[in-house]
Amino acid sequence: MAGVIRRLDETVVNRIAAGEVIQRPANAVKELIENCLDAKSTNIQVTVKDGGLKLLQIQDNGTGIRREDMDIVCERFTTSKLQTFEDLSAIATYGFRGEALASVSHIAHVTITTKTADAKCAYRAGYSDGKPKGPPKPCAGNQGTQILVEDLFYNVTTRRKALKSPSDEYSRIVEVVSRYAIHNSGKSFSVKKQGETVADVRTLPNASVVDNIRGVFGNAVSRELIQVGCEDQKLAYKMNGYISNANYSVKKCILVLFINHRLVESSAVKKAIETVYAAYLPKNMHPFLYLSLEIAPQNVDVNVHPTKHEVHFLHEDSVIESVQKHIESKLLGSNSSRTYFTQTLLPGLSVAGGSEVKTPSAAAESSDRIYAHQMVRTDCRAQKLDAFLQPKEKPPPDPEPAGPSSRVAVPEAAWPATKEMERPRKEQQQPEEVDEDLTAATMPKRRVIKLSSIKELRAETTENTHRDCEMVCVHTPAPLYDLAMLALDSEESGWTEEDGPKEGLAQYIVDFLKKKTEMLEDYFSVEIDQEGNLTGLPLLLDKYTPLMVGLPMFILRLATEVNWDNEKECFRGLSKECGMFYSIRKQYILEAELGEEQDAEVNSWRWQVEHILFKAFRTLLSPPKTFSEDGTVLQIANLPDLYKVFERC
Ligand code: ADP
Ligand code: MG
Repeated sequence: MAGVIRRLDETVVNRIAAGEVIQRPANAVKELIENCLDAKSTNIQVTVKDGGLKLLQIQDNGTGIRREDMDIVCERFTTSKLQTFEDLSAIATYGFRGEALASVSHIAHVTITTKTADAKCAYRAGYSDGKPKGPPKPCAGNQGTQILVEDLFYNVTTRRKALKSPSDEYSRIVEVVSRYAIHNSGKSFSVKKQGETVADVRTLPNASVVDNIRGVFGNAVSRELIQVGCEDQKLAYKMNGYISNANYSVKKCILVLFINHRLVESSAVKKAIETVYAAYLPKNMHPFLYLSLEIAPQNVDVNVHPTKHEVHFLHEDSVIESVQKHIESKLLGSNSSRTYFTQTLLPGLSVAGGSEVKTPSAAAESSDRIYAHQMVRTDCRAQKLDAFLQPKEKPPPDPEPAGPSSRVAVPEAAWPATKEMERPRKEQQQPEEVDEDLTAATMPKRRVIKLSSIKELRAETTENTHRDCEMVCVHTPAPLYDLAMLALDSEESGWTEEDGPKEGLAQYIVDFLKKKTEMLEDYFSVEIDQEGNLTGLPLLLDKYTPLMVGLPMFILRLATEVNWDNEKECFRGLSKECGMFYSIRKQYILEAELGEEQDAEVNSWRWQVEHILFKAFRTLLSPPKTFSEDGTVLQIANLPDLYKVFERC
């Protein structure tokens, strides 16, 4: 069954239309304030009861309404601002649709009291559903208009129910009034609750924009403002206003945006601006902005929304981009007043195996502000991107071809290379034996050391300089004898005829070290088999393999330079020798560089230094004090200072 089409009752139509224009008290306040401004008022006072639902009163000192217009003033489409359709394209007033008063009168009891300059007295009339309840009555009054709106939405129960909180509605009203007050410096505004003597917002006729921002948003923001202003003739727009600098931020972006003097919202503008500030403000923090855009009226379509809240304009993207650029340049230019916060490390991150590193200043300031510009790699432990890119010549995990062996004249199968293999942890090792404190991410678990000599040594140096020994198994056992012979052959050994034949010495070294096998293995993971072959070396650092060129000297020195008679000295000596062997020695590198190809090996030590050693330094190195004095460790820059330099360029 087809429904019967009927014409809606006019009051129903008007009520529906009114509901579109006025959705809440603050919408009505905005319309009424705009009317006051259209009427050239310089003083606008708003009084509110119950969030505007009970009473809304707007008093101005504008031109007033002529007595003869009072009959139709509340009818739909009655306006003094627009005559022909062409006028629309050049409209410079707020209103023109003649809908505001009509709308309000359909959903509230309206009383207008008004006096024009040349009228002898004021007139008052009550309105309902767009029509006066009776002829205007003469009364006393100053020039200007007072619009009294009572019982808003009295006949729209659903709306009334939707607006539960008068205090919420009141704050929206205060927001509208104060924003218009900021935009209209030179005119005075006030908003208060009925019965209160003190206004919640009051601006003075001689106050500046900044004064008004201070009055409304407070001192904190008003002293961090940058004035902005730009113009583009091609895009036919002009912009001016005030924006907060990088020192100021709030949880929610405050954008007081006026387009052609109308308070509007523009998600596009907001988004564009937030992008600019994102680089300056802490994460999740936002700026304050008051922007007034003037766009050639013919380019603006204010009519897209009944409440004229969202506007669109021609060349929107280009205008926004231009505004964005201007704001960016102003923000950049303002950094002389920028406060820098230094934060060496983010709080809460502790260095493995060490104490939390915190500069006193960072701790004292303990500011929650971390600017985006400080979000570069300020933390030395953060990785650079190239750490994720495998070098072409990766340190050989299993480098069959160009192993170090080719350069050291060692017996063929001696060290094709080392293969890192985790040595099974000793079964008897109880979990509680593991000293967690000493465990660094890159390091295998340590065992608890009960030897006082070692404890002393650790205390003497710093804990981190001691390493525990995971084992690197040498692929093919390397005869100690050959190693010792190689070492004695080298100049570095200092061997002379007087020392006797090398062969004898080499054999002595083998025998000597064989006697120490158990200890070497247990404490240093230097593994020697029964035949006198070296089968394992300590893995000091994951992924780090020492240059095998140094192995013969290491073996020789183990036997000759370490004091095996004193426990503590023995550990000290062994540690030193290990250190020497595992260090990257200039001499070997030079040899390598001078040698044939500038290839794998060379690149690999560089890569190892950058990505393995330096990375380990960050957490494991505890340099002795002397390092900072003798130039071993140099501070070359500090980040906030660098920023100051760069930003001035
Ligand atoms: P519009 O503002 O679109 O013209 P309104 O319904 O808001 O429509 O107002 C209708 C007319 O009432 C206005 O054109 C104006 O002439 C008059 N008017 C409304 N408010 C005031 C005021 N505060 N002072 C003087 N005139 C007013
Ligand atoms: Mg109007």
